[in-house]
Amino acid sequence: MSEMRKYKYRQAKRHLAFLRVWERVVKKEEGRNNNATQNRINEVNSSNTPDRVIIYKGELEYISRCILDYPNLETGGNLFGFYTTFRIPVIQYVLGPGENSVRSTTHFIQDNVFFNTNADMLINDHALHHIGTWHSHHKLAIDQPSGGDVNSMFDGMRADGLENFLLVIGNNYQRETSANAYRFCLQSKRYQHCHWVILDGDSPIRNQFDKKHRSIVHIPRTNVAMMQQVKSVPLCGEAEKKVSYSKGYWLNDDSNKIELKNIADYLKNKYKNVSFFLQEEDQTLKATISDNDNYSIVFPLEFPKVPPIIHQNNKLISNSGWDKTGLISQMFINYFNKKIVRNERFEIEHIALQNILSEKDFKFLDFDTDKPYFTAKLQTSNGKVYTIKIDLTYFPGSVPDVFIVKPKSLLTFSGHSLLKANHDMHTLDGKDGFVRISYCRAQDWRENVSLYKIVNSIRAWLEMYEKHLKTGKAIDFYQRAGSS
Ligand SMILES: [Zn+2]
Repeated sequence: MSEMRKYKYRQAKRHLAFLRVWERVVKKEEGRNNNATQNRINEVNSSNTPDRVIIYKGELEYISRCILDYPNLETGGNLFGFYTTFRIPVIQYVLGPGENSVRSTTHFIQDNVFFNTNADMLINDHALHHIGTWHSHHKLAIDQPSGGDVNSMFDGMRADGLENFLLVIGNNYQRETSANAYRFCLQSKRYQHCHWVILDGDSPIRNQFDKKHRSIVHIPRTNVAMMQQVKSVPLCGEAEKKVSYSKGYWLNDDSNKIELKNIADYLKNKYKNVSFFLQEEDQTLKATISDNDNYSIVFPLEFPKVPPIIHQNNKLISNSGWDKTGLISQMFINYFNKKIVRNERFEIEHIALQNILSEKDFKFLDFDTDKPYFTAKLQTSNGKVYTIKIDLTYFPGSVPDVFIVKPKSLLTFSGHSLLKANHDMHTLDGKDGFVRISYCRAQDWRENVSLYKIVNSIRAWLEMYEKHLKTGKAIDFYQRAGSS
């Protein structure tokens, strides 16, 4: 075997291994929740790895045409080229999807046979290397690698002993496509977003190769590319950053951009008008919401060490209760729920409750803390007054606990304590010496059950309890009588 042949053989084997690993990882990922943030991989220190990729305009257009062929499914292929003396990758030929590739809304797997045939010929005819892979994202419209992508890349690189590998992610935005290049480094286990250095015209390989292997190559059905404006940076010198945040800002970390997307999705799902913009004075991110109420949310320089600064109708919301555990998006959502969403709900509940209770007889307390509760005085028809407490810690997520706090520790007709769970009397095990009422089974609970409704149920319980004290008949007896 000649040296060249041996070399080619090794190359081909490498590609095979890469594809097999990719396929395995993608399949494994399918069943799992695609969570890019499981892989907290930071940007490569841009001082040692060049942050640009060279490509012919014609090859970018080829990617665009392939994406436009499948507006709703992921498609993809492979990248062939070489590295310059300064270790900058040059994409000379983009391979499209083979006939037997697998496409779905969430993944793409290249046709192995198609890949091998083309790879061998590209090596033979033009001495190109397999330097990367590309695919489109549709459903997600995320222009960066998903958690599954990151795993696949590193697993494939490890299996093939590749220190560097490119991943180009394409997106389709209303008939306009984008392409973003990411360079993965095995040693540092990091990846970074790269700038395009776009060379005018078509790749010299494209015409020659496609003409020679007409029956084998993939020609997209879409003839004309539709690309979003892509900025080309010069081959040498400082490249401009897309958006420049302050040094050390959380959004300089690529993996946090997906966290921001989750936060944005959450807010946009809740409110109609949500916008994000960069504040010029300190290069931090600010979100504004204009709905029934106006909100502004600033993500300060030290975020997520400190909570976001939230204003509601120009009033500053206290910054207590920032829980720094879990994913950034989850931290934000929990905080926002506690500070804003729950209060919006309490306001509505308050208005409803005014219909059945006088303002002086009920209160929402500690609602700015982790243990908010509601308390009310209820009077039965025979003039007895009870004070109830509703624990709102998990409201409206699950059935809130309701306690009779005054008078404390109620007794049955026969003088037994109601502090123990009692099916006939509709009580659960009490807490801190207070009787706990059972009024709704966990499986029947719905988030839209109002406090108004709960208060009415407790009122009914108190009326039945008063009757029970006279007759000795269990609450269950009255409950059944009432419902039949
Ligand atoms: Zn992907």
